[in-house]
Amino acid sequence: IKATVMEGVNVEQDAVQSPEASAAKTALEKLQNDRKTLPIYPYREQLLQAVNDHQVIVIVGETGSGKTTQIPQYLHEAGYSERGKIGCTQPRRVAAMSVAARVSQELGVKLGHEVGYSIRFEDCTSEKTVLKYMTDGMLLREFLGEPDLASYSVIMVDEAHERTLSTDVLFGLVKDITRFRPDLKLLISSATLDAEKFSDYFDSAPIFKIPGRRFPVDIHYTKAPEADYLDAAIVTALQIHVTQPPGDGDILVFFTGQEEIETAEETLKHRTRGLGTKIAELIICPIYANLPTELQAKIFEPTPEGARKVVLATNIAETSLTIDGIKYVIDPGFSKMKSYNPRTGMESLLVTPISKASANQRAGRSGRTGPGQCFRLYTAYNFYHDLEDNTVPEIQRTNLANVVLMLKSLGINDLLNFDFMDPPPSEALLKALELLYALSALNKHGELTKIGRRMSEFPLDPMLSKMIVASEKYTCSDEIISIAAMLSVGNSIFYRPKDKQVHADNARLNFHMGNVGDHIALLKVFSSWKETNFSTQWCYENYIQVRSMKRARDIRDQLEGLLERVEIELSSNMNDFDAIKKAITSGFFPHSAKIQKNGSYRTVKHPQTVHIHPSSGLAQVLPRWVVYHELVLTTKEYMRQVTELKPEWLVEIAPHFYQMKDVEDATTKKMPRGEGRALKD
Ligand code: ADP
Ligand code: MG
Repeated sequence: IKATVMEGVNVEQDAVQSPEASAAKTALEKLQNDRKTLPIYPYREQLLQAVNDHQVIVIVGETGSGKTTQIPQYLHEAGYSERGKIGCTQPRRVAAMSVAARVSQELGVKLGHEVGYSIRFEDCTSEKTVLKYMTDGMLLREFLGEPDLASYSVIMVDEAHERTLSTDVLFGLVKDITRFRPDLKLLISSATLDAEKFSDYFDSAPIFKIPGRRFPVDIHYTKAPEADYLDAAIVTALQIHVTQPPGDGDILVFFTGQEEIETAEETLKHRTRGLGTKIAELIICPIYANLPTELQAKIFEPTPEGARKVVLATNIAETSLTIDGIKYVIDPGFSKMKSYNPRTGMESLLVTPISKASANQRAGRSGRTGPGQCFRLYTAYNFYHDLEDNTVPEIQRTNLANVVLMLKSLGINDLLNFDFMDPPPSEALLKALELLYALSALNKHGELTKIGRRMSEFPLDPMLSKMIVASEKYTCSDEIISIAAMLSVGNSIFYRPKDKQVHADNARLNFHMGNVGDHIALLKVFSSWKETNFSTQWCYENYIQVRSMKRARDIRDQLEGLLERVEIELSSNMNDFDAIKKAITSGFFPHSAKIQKNGSYRTVKHPQTVHIHPSSGLAQVLPRWVVYHELVLTTKEYMRQVTELKPEWLVEIAPHFYQMKDVEDATTKKMPRGEGRALKD
């Protein structure tokens, strides 16, 4: 298999030198030949026959067998796309983009024409698009505009084993429409063998198994638990690199997120520098959701002769993406998972041990093209006794407000009886209903209100959508959508290089002048950049990441379009920070916290101790009352993106949620003088 793949690559390289047209043709032919070497290819006819004979089928095949890239193409070749689009969902946006790019190459068409993708805030499709890859969340949103998915002839819910929240909700919705759209074909595809469960759920749909080709994988465990898995992973990778001949295979290391990957990348670069010229080159390829698109393609580039590639990946490489040529897998045994406490309604991202199923998927990534080796950075005892068998489906450990709002806007009112494959805990459903009621998205009968309908137009969390909808009242929608866009970009606005931290921090403080809070600081960054006519130079001078800013601008443009759709005028109130903060509070009032004597905070509604994140502009200021965007749990429970609040706003804005007694000590009692001199009086 490997030989064929390598050959294909060589031809592509030759192609650059040959006359363009014929070269492109050869490259295309080569890609076509490669397609025929995939494990799924011998089953093409049988599969098409099965799709022809049944409305719903469950497809099971190992990662890398060709499910995602080939099945939609087979259906296209068989004419299904003449009756409507072929849609294929992916839990991760990187996978949707990358797979669409690959398929467009295989078909020899420009990405966005016949083959396209759609992810949140980025639609790379056109009138011509017949093969559409998209995130599961995007297909969910399509139901809002087209409840019967009439423009599709086939829906393939791919990576079903991942059981993301959106996939689980999609299951219920697509199952429902197959009943009144007999012409719609539904494929549920999964990389794991628990297909029975899918089959049972879809009224005993037949299971189509694609026999995999798996080579044996040697599993190595550590003798004792690792105190620092990040370092252990780096050491292991370097050991493999130094002791094994370079030509024999690449390394894949699993990390929990971007920060770890960036640290690992730096450390690896640093340590390989000292190795001297006798050791083969080590090419470091990071891959995570926020990695810029141009860099994502790098992981698929063939490793040059005499060098070795080390891919530093998040869970995305577990089943969503297949990288050829991996022989060694290093598995520290963790991933970042959402956890949700339905009692308090609080959600955090936690680094959590993976399940046995995940560990086995990870190991399997090394045995695709030849015998592999997997280094588990935990003990065998740990694996057998501590790891859960399977990952708990997201629907059972997440905030459901978003999904509930979506289902309500689809007219699905009886959520307790919705046909979930694994129903969410009923207290989580109730909590979501409660929150939506508090946000005035639902009335007391649980019906969608006008506010709720407007909110559902925005592909954002309900609190953010509410903040936008509320900005109409405070005539600051212009500012609020900038803030919402900046918040949606994530924590990659400010750039803080190791050797220039002081400069970077000073630049950042400029935006925080007057202790305006993190939201307004983000707004100031955006509007200052806008004033320079979106200058890249300005970003460099201010230690701002240009790429993140461009993304924020894109998102903002889309939010502006959506404002128009819900008939909210674009209005500006740049000098009235209180108005802007009130709009923020209208969405985020459930996230309010009050300072305590020792400088920590107590959340108001469900008392819990939290802290202002050190990166916040208010970390030294410590206002008495704050509203925060999100909680992150690292060494402590931190509030990230924090703004000062006047407690009376809580009662004014959310009288059904807060009573005077919740906020009264602010007005009656004086704050006791604590030890912190930073405490504001
Ligand atoms: P599955 O969905 O069954 O896991 P895929 O269809 O994703 O399998 O992958 C089939 C093959 O296509 C794999 O060998 C993989 O390496 C290759 N492939 C997929 N995406 C890309 C890409 N973006 N660039 C290069 N090769 C790719
Ligand atoms: Mg796949």
